[in-house]
Amino acid sequence: MRVMRIESIEAIPLRRELDERIAIAQKWISSRQYCLIKVETVEGITGWGECWGPVAGNREIIEEYVTPWIEGKDVRNIEQIHDDLVFKLTGSYHSYTPASVVSGVDIALWDAYGKSLGAPVSELLGGRRRDRVRAYATGHFWTDADDFEMLKGRIVDEAKGHVDAGFDALKNKIGFQRHPDFPWGWKEDVELVRAIREAVGDDIRLMTDANHAYDSATARRVGKRLEDLGVYWFEEPVRPHAIDNYESLNSELDTPLAGGECWAFEHEFARVLDAAAVGITQPDVTSAGGLTSTRRVATLSDAYNVQCVPHVFGSAIALGASLQVLATIPGDPMLEFDRTPNPIREDLAVDPITNDGNSVPIPDSPGIGVEIDPDVLDSFRMT
Ligand SMILES: [Mg+2]
Repeated sequence: MRVMRIESIEAIPLRRELDERIAIAQKWISSRQYCLIKVETVEGITGWGECWGPVAGNREIIEEYVTPWIEGKDVRNIEQIHDDLVFKLTGSYHSYTPASVVSGVDIALWDAYGKSLGAPVSELLGGRRRDRVRAYATGHFWTDADDFEMLKGRIVDEAKGHVDAGFDALKNKIGFQRHPDFPWGWKEDVELVRAIREAVGDDIRLMTDANHAYDSATARRVGKRLEDLGVYWFEEPVRPHAIDNYESLNSELDTPLAGGECWAFEHEFARVLDAAAVGITQPDVTSAGGLTSTRRVATLSDAYNVQCVPHVFGSAIALGASLQVLATIPGDPMLEFDRTPNPIREDLAVDPITNDGNSVPIPDSPGIGVEIDPDVLDSFRMT
């Protein structure tokens, strides 16, 4: 019987300072950093993956825990490796399972498996339903500004730029009250969305994301006003653990809630879906448990008649892997297309993925369809 043994697995930390820091409700973002995963097989195939979050933690778990366990296993047994790793990590860490580690390993295994067969991962995940996917522009982050009017004007100009570039769906950030450097509140949040709506018109699909900034009362207050602005979804209004809040808000508001970037594995999404707590699920391939779990969540979401629209905010690896699963998702998913300046996302792939109007072609080259430029990789590597 043919086998494809894993010879080595390596965590590769990348980091790049941003020219201008950007903010969301939770924090400033002044650099972009990623823990990439490189798997090599005895047969000479290389697979790439990516873990969500800081390098710290991901790298150590890979090096000290995953490496001695995974070497020699057969890449083709991806789902078994995924499930066994979840079991082992849960047993070791008790109160949480490092899902970003599982994700990075899982993506790298799918990439290697696809390359070994000369097939895109989307074919191995059950087949492609589409060769292009509608993209929405994510951005509209907050930057240093003297006052709200200055920031609002800058964000409205950015929105118009995305529309000029061909996008017909946009997402912005709200939740000023949680950030100490932005002394505004929910009224300014609503005013910002209103200003974008007025600037781009009613034909543009508009989503807004609070990055779990609100308590339940403020979320309801804001959500009621977003209805009048025709907002397509209201993302992460409250903290991810507050499933009961999600459930009540999702039933009370006309605007559906979206969430999932802070949830992992199909069992967490099952709880959310069973509670009818969101109208859109947003698993991230780099944090929800890789392509295996994201595909499972998409299938589960479809069973509950809920659209899955994966969260994407990573390097070229995350973007490529997300496109492969997007090819397979039932219904009418969109690609979250990060438009913030990010050299690691833009330069790491030999053929960068770009939008063509409001859609993005899904690569059909082997694996996740991303060829890494080794010189660029080295230039971003953390020492
Ligand atoms: Mg979000």
